[in-house]
Parts: sequence; C-alpha cells; structure tokens
Amino acid sequence: MFRLDLTGLENRIAERQEQLILGADEHKKVGYLCSYTPLELISAAGVSHIRLFKAGDTHTVASGEQITQSVFCDFTKSILGAFKEEDPLYTSLDKVYTFYTCDCIKTVGEAIGEFFAPADIYTLPRIKDKPSSRDFYSSQILSFKADLEQLSGNIITEGELRLQIRQYNEVRKLLTQISELRKRPNPPLSGKDYLDLVKAFYYLPAEELLPLYQGIYDKLAAVPVREDRTIRLFMAGGIIADGDRKLLELIEDELGARIVAEDHCTGLKIASGHIDEEGDPYRALAEGYIDQTPCARMKPLQERVEISGALATEYQADGVLYAYLKFCPCYGQIKNEFFRHYQQLGIPVLELPIDYSKSDQGQLKTRLEAFIEVLRERKGLAAVGSA
Ligand code: SF4
Ligand code: SF4
Repeated sequence: MFRLDLTGLENRIAERQEQLILGADEHKKVGYLCSYTPLELISAAGVSHIRLFKAGDTHTVASGEQITQSVFCDFTKSILGAFKEEDPLYTSLDKVYTFYTCDCIKTVGEAIGEFFAPADIYTLPRIKDKPSSRDFYSSQILSFKADLEQLSGNIITEGELRLQIRQYNEVRKLLTQISELRKRPNPPLSGKDYLDLVKAFYYLPAEELLPLYQGIYDKLAAVPVREDRTIRLFMAGGIIADGDRKLLELIEDELGARIVAEDHCTGLKIASGHIDEEGDPYRALAEGYIDQTPCARMKPLQERVEISGALATEYQADGVLYAYLKFCPCYGQIKNEFFRHYQQLGIPVLELPIDYSKSDQGQLKTRLEAFIEVLRERKGLAAVGSA
C-alpha cells in the first residue's frame, strides 16, 4: 500500500517555528485564533502569521484552566495554558487577533490581551446572509487592515493584496484537489495525512505552500486506483487541534478504518472559501470568508448541517464520527440537528465527546471498535478475526 511520507513537511514546519521564535525574519509576527481571520490581508501587510491551535498536554490544559473556568473547551484552555507556560512560539508574537465567533474564543482573546500580549478582537456577525451582516464584516475587515498597517509600518497596496488573494485561492484549490483524491475506493492518503497537510497551511506562507502542495498532489494522483473495501469514515464536529491525533491514530493505525473526509474547523473546511479576484478586494474578502463552510455558530444552522451531509455522501462514508470537545457550546448543543440529518441520509453516526486527556483512551477504543464492526456488517464484510 502507498504511504505518503510527510517527514520533510514536518521538518519544514518545525524549522519555520524555530525561525519565528528566534526572530530570524524581520517581519512582525501575529497569531490568530479562528478560521474567519483573512490571512490574505495579514500577508499583504508583510506580517508573518501562525494559527494558535496547539493541543495542550494535561499540565498545559490545567494551567489554562486557572485563567478560564472549568466549563471552557480544552482547545481554549490549551491556548491560554501555552501562554502561561511561556511556550516560546506564542510568547514571541507581537500581537494576537481574533474574530469573535464563539464565547470561549472571545474570552481567550480578552485574557491574552489582559495577561500576555497585545490583542484585538473583531466581530463576526452570526446571520451570514443578511446584507447588513456583510456590510458590518466588511467594515471590520477595513479596521483590521488599518491595525495591521499600524503594527507593521507598511501600507497594504491593492496590488499586493490581489496577489495574496490569487495565491491563497490557488492554495485552497490544491487542498481541494488533494482531498478529492480521497473519493477513490483506495484513498492515497490517510485522514491524518490530510490534517498534517492542512497544518502546514497554518504555519507556512502561501508562496511556499503552492509548490509544496503541487508536488504532493502530483505524487498522490499517480497512485493507481484499485478496489478497496476498507471502512470509510467521515469526521464531523468542532476542531481537531495541532497534536490532537488520538482519535485518528486509534481509527487508522489500530482499527484499520479510514477517515476519508472531515468538516471540522481544521480540515477540508479551510479549502472551502474562494475570494473573488475582481472588484473591491476588501468586500471580496468579507464575502469569501463569510461564505466558507460555516462554523456551527453561524445562522442558518440548516445550511451547515446540509453541507455536512452532502460531504459525507460525496465521499461515500460508511459512517460519521461526530467528535466535539466537551463543553463546546457550538457543536455540543446543536448535535441533534446533525444526527437527525445523517440518519435521514441513512448514514450511521457515533457521538464522541472528547478532551485532551489520555484517560478515556480505552473507552474510546471500545466504542469505536463496536461502531466499525456494525459498519462492516452493513457492508457485508466478515467480522474482524473471523475465519
Ligand atoms: S470552530 Fe468556529 S469558533 Fe471555533 S475556531 Fe473554528 S470557526 Fe472559530
Ligand atoms: S467552537 Fe467549540 S471547540 Fe471551537 S473554540 Fe468554541 S467552544 Fe471551543
């Protein structure tokens, strides 16, 4: 079986992080929290950027919890814990930005500003299709532009912004093309591989991602198509952070199933936005970002639910894993809307409330094993271990 070797990519991400920590490039450095932050604008200001999305270990999560409350998700506790424990990458940043999406993210932005680094919070309207929401988000993007110019001392030119828009559109297109190879009966890359490719998106600049993703696409597209009846799983839910590979490793390395697509915040969703390359570039950023696959926090929720079902169907998923972080108000509270829709489509679903501790590993494995066994039976496959 073909195995994609991503060692070079991992090394490059680590090297980039080291460069940022050491201040090896002269650019200002910012961190951002949410996928509604327009990276084209940050790059056009000549500012380096990383997404703050590392999963913390138990100690880091506990440290972050001292600042938040216990009812916050482990993702947000991890971010604050990393600052508190003086993670060198996070403490090297000149500023942190967030767009107010969920309440946890907003509180984290405020706490970073109060205790650790300069921070600004912009607002993302919840009702995505109202013209006034789009006008407001456009005005927020213009304020963001002014702030980036002040931080960097650079004027954002229209030419540079258009260049970044074109490059990021190309990057998203390549990520979509790579993902679509997973529609084959024998996907040439695992779900974990795809998340690692997306991870590069959050650390490397677009001009570096383009040749890198093109090379990977060419290699993967050349893998011969053949029949394969491995169980295909679709992963839905909130966010799978950098380093949070517990579920994927269990499913793909231990239980022999495959994640063929995902619609959480740090997977295929990132490839879903397209920014219009004509007209006013600031308005185009607002329209493109608000029209990406929406976060469950956005309204109307039904659109979000239907996108999820359509993706699971397109990628021919045998089952859905709905994984969300414990205490997540966005994905936890509205889960039943998703479940109903998958059930209407005839796709079995397993609910997985998760956190970053290791204590639930055994229980997770048992539940996943049982679910995959049911899917194997539905597919007419022999039970694992039977003669
Ligand atoms: S899940 Fe929603 S609120 Fe959380 S980071 Fe992603 S887009 Fe933002
Ligand atoms: S949407 Fe949920 S998982 Fe994402 S930051 Fe907010 S509470 Fe955490």
